[in-house]
Amino acid sequence: MQSASKSIQDIPYAQFNNLLIGSAWQQGGQTGRISVEDPSTGEHINDVADATVADAAAAVDAAAAAAEGWAATAPRERGEILRRCFELMIRDADQLARLISLENGKALKDARSEVLYAAEFFRWFAEEAVRISGDLAIAPGGANRILVQYQPIGVSLLITPWNFPAAMATRKIAPALAAGCTCILKPATETPLTAYAMGALCLEAGVPAGVINIITSSATSEVVNALLSDKRVRKLSFTGSTEVGRILLRKAADQVINCSMELGGNAPFIVFDDADIEKAVAGGMIAKMRNGGEACTAANRFYVQRGAADKFSRRFAEAMEGLRVGPGADPSTDCGPLVNAKAVSKVDELVKDAVRRSARIVCGGSPIDGAGYFYAPTVLLDMPADADITREEIFGPVAPIYIFDTEEEAIQLANDTEYGLVSYVYTEDLRRGLRVSEKLEAGMIAINRGLVSDPAAPFGGVKQSGLGREGAHHGILEFMEAKYIATDW
Ligand code: NAP
Repeated sequence: MQSASKSIQDIPYAQFNNLLIGSAWQQGGQTGRISVEDPSTGEHINDVADATVADAAAAVDAAAAAAEGWAATAPRERGEILRRCFELMIRDADQLARLISLENGKALKDARSEVLYAAEFFRWFAEEAVRISGDLAIAPGGANRILVQYQPIGVSLLITPWNFPAAMATRKIAPALAAGCTCILKPATETPLTAYAMGALCLEAGVPAGVINIITSSATSEVVNALLSDKRVRKLSFTGSTEVGRILLRKAADQVINCSMELGGNAPFIVFDDADIEKAVAGGMIAKMRNGGEACTAANRFYVQRGAADKFSRRFAEAMEGLRVGPGADPSTDCGPLVNAKAVSKVDELVKDAVRRSARIVCGGSPIDGAGYFYAPTVLLDMPADADITREEIFGPVAPIYIFDTEEEAIQLANDTEYGLVSYVYTEDLRRGLRVSEKLEAGMIAINRGLVSDPAAPFGGVKQSGLGREGAHHGILEFMEAKYIATDW
């Protein structure tokens, strides 16, 4: 890749900072603008338009007007447009990575990985667009044929978080468009520029006017409520916290809107005595520190069997201490800042609570003084089971390590949470790995791996981590309705 540009003004995509409604970039009805900050410095770097409820209605008008034409567009044509989105993303990977790094704070290497991962959703769903098949069966009684056809669900509202501003957008836009749906994307207020960049890229790739609309608003709840009250909106695909997911599920109930929810996690990372400890440390660093710990899949609780505990803890703490903390956009940074001051306070509160109850800090343990929202990579030992950190998503560079004795105990501890997104298991015994996987309450299991995300695999959680799946063939079905036609011939 080429070297990164020096400031946000050098990034051509940063000029797209108005609402995208139809094919027009609009100021919106609100005179004020939303400020975008660089978490590495806390300084203002750009601003974006602030949509009103009337702007949201205009976005639905545009999406509804384009819906019939887009649904009727040949699947091959939809696929080829998505393929061009993939190619443009790869072409512009450097500037997109830099943009993500500046508004989100993540290390440039993480931002580059995100761009490549995000682009893969365009490529994958370009291929899925032409693989939408139906079913044909003879009714068991023999009276008629059962014909099942999959049709686009209609205008879709896509709401995304700030932690993967490109990938969480493409993981929704690509399947929606492949299925033949038009959409309105509402990105997180912290990272709107990457979302608008995705819109500009889609238009350049040939996505017709109105098929993708993007709005940002400081009146989030009011604007989203208006969208969910609009009878023309038939789908909500949300990624974010479980807390907000619950609010949106309640609201979506009024119009009985179809919902896909990718919510929070509290991933256990289990290391058995027989694990390859060096591999477990390397996998643990990926599971914990990808994105500086700000990932729904982040290892939140490390459970290490007694015989491996000393070695794993020592080697893991060494790896955490060796991380280079710095501004996200600096190419040598391993761990960037957290997204904002509130995130730093939350992480610090969780660490303080654990220490009050008996946890021992091996490294880190506090915010880093100076500009920006930095927290030192932290390892905690002697973890009390009742600490808040055991139950809550940390969303930061903190690794609490707990000790267990038996397989049954590990499973019980791992499952003792309302969440069920992903679980990690390290063991050299594959029979044990598979046996434990079947008992873990999670939508995804990683055996001897620190990463599960893959556009070709069904991503999603059980329990309060969500409803539905993204990626794989499952991802496109989330944007389609099965229509059953009873027929006789
Ligand atoms: P969040 O606070 O739930 O916000 C997510 C989105 O919802 C943002 O666009 C936000 O807009 C919007 N929102 C917030 N309150 C709302 C309301 N009352 N009504 C309507 N919309 C509302 O989550 P976040 O802090 O951005 O992201 C972190 C969370 O996302 C974590 O819990 C993480 O685990 C989860 N996550 C899950 C996955 C997954 O695949 N399961 C992936 C990534 C992240 P504003 O920014 O304008 O408030």
